[in-house]
Amino acid sequence: MGSSHSWHQGTRVVSSRWSVVARLMPDEIISSWLVNTALIQGCDPMTLTLAVWPKWRIWTNDGDRIFNEDRLDPICALSGIKKVTLMSASLFPIAKQIYGKRPPEKGVWTWFLAPGARNTKRHSGIQYCPFCLKSDAKPYFRIQWRFAWHTGCKVHGHALLDRCHDCNAPVEYHRLLAEDKVITVCGTCKVDLRAASVRSCLPEALKFQLMADDVLINDVGLFQGSAMNVTPWFELANYFVSLIRVAQRCENEPLSEFLRLIGVQLPESIPMRPGNHLEILNTHDREGLLAAIFPLMSASKILFEEALQKSNITRQGLAGHRMVSPTWIRTTAASLPSTLREKSTRSTARLDGPRSRYQVKRMMARLQRKLDMAQR
Ligand SMILES: [Zn+2]
Ligand SMILES: [Zn+2]
Repeated sequence: MGSSHSWHQGTRVVSSRWSVVARLMPDEIISSWLVNTALIQGCDPMTLTLAVWPKWRIWTNDGDRIFNEDRLDPICALSGIKKVTLMSASLFPIAKQIYGKRPPEKGVWTWFLAPGARNTKRHSGIQYCPFCLKSDAKPYFRIQWRFAWHTGCKVHGHALLDRCHDCNAPVEYHRLLAEDKVITVCGTCKVDLRAASVRSCLPEALKFQLMADDVLINDVGLFQGSAMNVTPWFELANYFVSLIRVAQRCENEPLSEFLRLIGVQLPESIPMRPGNHLEILNTHDREGLLAAIFPLMSASKILFEEALQKSNITRQGLAGHRMVSPTWIRTTAASLPSTLREKSTRSTARLDGPRSRYQVKRMMARLQRKLDMAQR
């Protein structure tokens, strides 16, 4: 790395049909460039995009994904910027690298923050570093601020923000108006996001972030001293996130012991709503999870094997909580003792044995719903 960019180099604008076009800055995300181009022309971003794509409501979708690159034809013709350059400012090439194939057209993309768009409003989706924005001559939002494994700024060493410091709204620069002039204005309350104060980030989360960046930049991962392709590396990291969440909600002594021996510190509890995946968690919650998986992703083979042995973790403890686990996990788990025989006699044991806190909470919620129904 060491250059001014990690993901794409941006461009200087050549001849354009428009009178003025914002320069695509190094690592700028395509939606930021669109908004900056609108503002520089004295135009509302939504007006500009409607003129470019009369039939495509870009802001009601995730406009940074660019699943279909033909969508870029009109903007390339107007701006004079090549399609390959604008594609490099979209999430598509990196998603393709992580998936090892074209990512799905619909649904959340694993490892990318989901905006949760409803009409033109968002639940979340993009983070920012106020110091980076302050240091820009013309502020712009970086592509890496949409990566779910990014929770800190490696330049300034503090945690990224994902909401307005004043009104707590998510970042929605596409909702700005021409008179707002600068992309750093909050789309809801109009304060300047560059004025936000910051906190330091968790060093382990930043280490994981840099490690994952390197995997993508070098197009190869390293796990327990061996090379691993990008897709299985990210699958493994994703699996370890699930494992941490299992350890948080279940009292599983061997699993907790295994994680402790590896050096994992479990994060504070994270909301357990169903479907609450990494991609929709806020920066703070993701930071805790990613800091927790760093020791797992960087442990040596010897440490890992020792921890498996000493903790008495079972095959089911390592790989049994999910139907689909990565090949590496399945292979490793196959050498561990199985609890399958005990499971067959569980039907009687379950009635008397202690329940986990998670099970008790779910039972209580079910009971409460029944009581509510009975009182109607
Ligand atoms: Zn920064
Ligand atoms: Zn605000």
